[in-house]
Amino acid sequence: MAEFPRPSPLPDRDTAPFWEAQNNHELKFQRCTGCETVRYPVGPLCPECHSFDFEWITSSGRGTIYSYTIVRHQTHPAFAPPYTVLLVEMEEGPRIIAQLQASEDARFAIDTPVHIEWEDHPGQALPVFVLDS
Ligand SMILES: [Zn+2]
Repeated sequence: MAEFPRPSPLPDRDTAPFWEAQNNHELKFQRCTGCETVRYPVGPLCPECHSFDFEWITSSGRGTIYSYTIVRHQTHPAFAPPYTVLLVEMEEGPRIIAQLQASEDARFAIDTPVHIEWEDHPGQALPVFVLDS
């Protein structure tokens, strides 16, 4: 069976720097220069103080599992089940979603430490999470 392409992000004026950083294997967050809030997803203004001013910061790539789900039914032809999707609270505060890359018998739970590794897909690198050893 031919491999079905993954859906790709559609960068816009606000999100282009975020996606470009990922192609350099860096996860970037916006930090408000008005109130220091680190925010994700990328957006034009701070949800806390409504400032338009921000700087990009680079995530350490480390976090802990906040929640997860194991997908057992195929919902998109590019993603063959079963696979595990994690919601990870990053050290900088924001929570991001990505797949877990681990063996089927890997053991993990809420609060298990994980870190990002990168998969290079055509045109876009994307993060996956790996359990800390
Ligand atoms: Zn702010």
